[in-house]
Amino acid sequence: MSISQAQVRAGAAADQAGTANPGRGLAAAGSRAGARPAWRRLCLSSFALAGITAVIVWAGVADLLRQGRLETVLRAGWAELAAPLLIALVVATGICERIWPAEPRPVLARGHVQDACYLALHAIVVIPLMTLLSVGGAALIGGHAGWLELRATQHWPGWLLIPLTIVAMDAANWLAHFADHRLGFLWRFHALHHSQEELSVLTSFRAHPLMHTTGFLLATIPVVVLMPGRPIAPVLITVYVCIGTLQHANLRWTFGPAGRLIVSPAYHRLHHALEYQSINLGVVLTIWDVLAGCARFPARSGAVGRTGLAGRPVPVEQANVRAPAPLLVAEQLIEPFQAHR
Ligand SMILES: [Zn+2]
Ligand SMILES: [Zn+2]
Repeated sequence: MSISQAQVRAGAAADQAGTANPGRGLAAAGSRAGARPAWRRLCLSSFALAGITAVIVWAGVADLLRQGRLETVLRAGWAELAAPLLIALVVATGICERIWPAEPRPVLARGHVQDACYLALHAIVVIPLMTLLSVGGAALIGGHAGWLELRATQHWPGWLLIPLTIVAMDAANWLAHFADHRLGFLWRFHALHHSQEELSVLTSFRAHPLMHTTGFLLATIPVVVLMPGRPIAPVLITVYVCIGTLQHANLRWTFGPAGRLIVSPAYHRLHHALEYQSINLGVVLTIWDVLAGCARFPARSGAVGRTGLAGRPVPVEQANVRAPAPLLVAEQLIEPFQAHR
């Protein structure tokens, strides 16, 4: 199975035509929209995804309120997704990036500052959103598709069941990432992540909040199927998130032989290449790319390629150096909701 950038672009073209205009901003989009009615200047599929996300989140909130556990679960989500281990990893990786950078650049490079804003957004908005998407997804899937639950696995030992579930979750995340690149209405939200031209460990947090809906919904299915009523130890989720965070580091690390199985910074950088070639979609494990025929392993001595999106279809900080970072974040978050023709 292989996906090409041409296919991605073709799929996206139906509702993102005109996005190849460098440095496009709200004002430019508005002026091009001319005298069209207001609703025709909006991308309805993006609003539909926002509506679906709201329904899942509300299902999670309602479920937790019913159990009187809303605050407890939000705190637990915070402990998993902003654990001291993850914070220590981000700091340590930032230090390594200063010592062994794949691409030397100032610590306050525009891309770093912009991604730091996304880190703040992640802490304030995205972590609670992720937690509620997981709970809401499980409530909806468990409530409407209870037949998915494999009761036989209740007797399986944890040492077998938990790794199996995490591997299945990783496969679901790969599938969601695959869909992000194949389906135009999802690519609209994923493009922001790919627009970074100065990759760093902070780029892991550069994502539109609505980019997470598909992944969390799909990743909830293996948990409902394999582990109904059994929690996964939070530390395992934290370790999984840590490995997934390291992949954006501005490092040439390939992880040696382990890099054939685990996504390394050098491996994921190829996925972010400016000359995108539909490769290396893996989140933590490379095996799904290998099975799909879209894995390309980096050479240790290979040149460090440029990253970003050709033509800058998303407003980027490198083209708007004077724009205050929080304002540009707002512009980038609004961008998927605009119809650009
Ligand atoms: Zn991607
Ligand atoms: Zn990435």
